[in-house]
Amino acid sequence: MRFGTAEAAPGELATGVIELGHDNILPLVSPVMLARGALPGPRLFIQCLIHGGENVGPIAAARFIRSLDLKTFKGSIAALLVANPLGQRAHSRLTPQDGTNLNRIFPGSPTGSVGEQMVDRLLAIAGEHGGDTILDLHSGGELTITAFYVIYDDKFDGPQQRASKALAAQVGSRYQWGASEGWMDGTYLAHVSRTHRKTALIIESGGGARVREEDLANFSTALNGAARAMGMIPGDPPVATDIRRGGNAVHVKCTRGGYWECLVEPGQDMVAGQVMGRMVDLYGQVVEEISCPTGQAWVGSIRRPWMPLYSGDQVVEVVERL
Ligand SMILES: [Zn+2]
Repeated sequence: MRFGTAEAAPGELATGVIELGHDNILPLVSPVMLARGALPGPRLFIQCLIHGGENVGPIAAARFIRSLDLKTFKGSIAALLVANPLGQRAHSRLTPQDGTNLNRIFPGSPTGSVGEQMVDRLLAIAGEHGGDTILDLHSGGELTITAFYVIYDDKFDGPQQRASKALAAQVGSRYQWGASEGWMDGTYLAHVSRTHRKTALIIESGGGARVREEDLANFSTALNGAARAMGMIPGDPPVATDIRRGGNAVHVKCTRGGYWECLVEPGQDMVAGQVMGRMVDLYGQVVEEISCPTGQAWVGSIRRPWMPLYSGDQVVEVVERL
């Protein structure tokens, strides 16, 4: 079995690289890992760092793969560790060369900008190597801190979407978010689900330029849960309690620039009118109070506390409870 330059026989772990595009020097490549169990079974594909700077995913994925006992493991795992090498080099969610957010421009184009070409390539790789199930790992990035949530494509009611929703309940997150909004149409998740008909999830936890043990533990729970749900390793997948379902997301922005004094935590339940934070100017004065604009909701993500922001920057993403 091959994935990029990695080649694994049954019971072996291989590492290598795969080509994603070209810059002006050499091919742009991502490191890859290919873990092949001694026993036949399903194929799991893990993608990390489509947003540069979201470093919990690749660290957790490599740890998880190295923790497996391949003598008893059923099936295979292919991991593409750096889907956006240009953004990662700049610690940026975006691709600096063309300003693209790769997870909003799918399906991309083979003749487009460097970001659009990488997206076209990532989608082709998912079609060829994506196997049965794809997990797209995110972790907020340098500027944003997210709850430990899982997103599945809820725009259509097809077999892949139903399988994805079922898997979302088996990765140990209590924030199970079926997204049907317009932004989903440009995502990797939507395209691997709708075009390649894969069971697929976004799993996200952490951010704010930190990699915390808590976030690594969340990803360990999620990856082991998915592998158990797929029958690759023994044991039952985790069952989350006190579930928060998600519908539409409201991106709350400040109108005044300043320091962001954040008063809420990712994952916190919110009610309409609840104060979420304040903008404070350099004289230490509160220049704006930010309240929750919607009813029953939970905090999907926050801008990291005390980050200096411009007028109009997003401060909190509030997810409506279903
Ligand atoms: Zn992300």
